[in-house]
Amino acid sequence: MMPKPMSDLHENLTRRIDDQITALVALTQDLIRFPTINPPGEDYTPCAEYLGQRLKRAGFQVNYFRGEGTPGDSDQYPRTNVIARYEGRGPGPTVHFNSHIDVVEVGHDWTMDPFAAIVRDGRVYGRGACDMKGGLAASIIAAEAYIAANPDFYGAIEISGTVDEESGGYGGVAYLAEKGLFSKPRVDHVIIPEPLNKDRICLGHRGVWWAEIETLGVQAHGSMPFLGDCAVRHMGAVLSAFEDQLYPLLASKQTQMPVVPEGAKKSTMNINSIHGGNEESHEGFPSANVPESCRMVIDRRYLLEEDLATVKSEVIAVLDGLKDNRQNFDYAIRDMWDVLPTMTERDAPVVQAVAGAIEEVLHKKPDYVISPGTYDQKHIARIGHLHDCIAYGPGILDLAHRADEYVVIDDMVESAKVMAFAIHQLLTGAK
Ligand SMILES: [Zn+2]
Repeated sequence: MMPKPMSDLHENLTRRIDDQITALVALTQDLIRFPTINPPGEDYTPCAEYLGQRLKRAGFQVNYFRGEGTPGDSDQYPRTNVIARYEGRGPGPTVHFNSHIDVVEVGHDWTMDPFAAIVRDGRVYGRGACDMKGGLAASIIAAEAYIAANPDFYGAIEISGTVDEESGGYGGVAYLAEKGLFSKPRVDHVIIPEPLNKDRICLGHRGVWWAEIETLGVQAHGSMPFLGDCAVRHMGAVLSAFEDQLYPLLASKQTQMPVVPEGAKKSTMNINSIHGGNEESHEGFPSANVPESCRMVIDRRYLLEEDLATVKSEVIAVLDGLKDNRQNFDYAIRDMWDVLPTMTERDAPVVQAVAGAIEEVLHKKPDYVISPGTYDQKHIARIGHLHDCIAYGPGILDLAHRADEYVVIDDMVESAKVMAFAIHQLLTGAK
């Protein structure tokens, strides 16, 4: 694609962001050094306060919101969110960048300190570098560059650092959306800088249904299992019925949604856990028991073309089939949570603005994608009733939640430029 000449403002923004690369890297490193591991929700308050102080210095009004009473909230682990708002010189639209500050646990296979924020080969390494402190830092540099380059703008720019995205977002975006902080007229356009790659626009995500299935048996001494009824064996029958009946059905469903990676274009179901029989948390030998209960947690991800009632009925049909055909088989099923699939329209203003900016910065058309898993867009759409929302940010999706996670510095710089150009279009309508 032939680059078209840049406007003076775009040139100005480009220059300012290129001048801020050192600051962008330092900001990313500072953010990584708060080990905001969730669960339990470590270091949320210092990380939120760091962001608040930084944005206050840049002229933002800063407010903190504790997700009081939300899952995991306690005095030891307060769910501290921060929202910073920069008012332009008069009324106009508000562009909001929302990033989660929590990161997932580290695991054991890192080759370096995950919270040292080491810079090597043009990358910043660390837990959360990719998902999503690099994106958060890029959005701050973009907003600051925009305010400096065009101080007389109308409207407002908001930046939030929110908690608990990795555990459902209830103490973070859901809590704030309930308070009206992600709705019109306060907010018009939302960009979530999740790591979807600098040239991709993420329009939404697949749906989710989690449920717990329990098979029921009868206790007895383990030396005489014929006197009882083993719930674990019944669960084995559930597993093989899933293999024979359910998985082929799921694999046959193909979506028209542009889900990435390719494997997620089909319906999927993970078996998240199975527990049956004695607790194994103690030292020494277990006692000899026939288990009377076995529990399985399933994580079913479904497509825009499917509806939740059908998704549930497919699983229940398999279980009912066993009840009809397998001696003494009985089960219980409990819903744990669900999320409807969501997809922002391609002609929505935020999609158009970011698409145009990607073309100008990267000289290519954006790819439009749907995320295999959900993120905080669900709360913005469902609770905030705001549908002008996408995920766009630097970082390679496949690196999220993995050992030696990193973000490429050049990718952060380029997406900061995309974000800054998009702010201008969304605030003024001018390209
Ligand atoms: Zn994330």
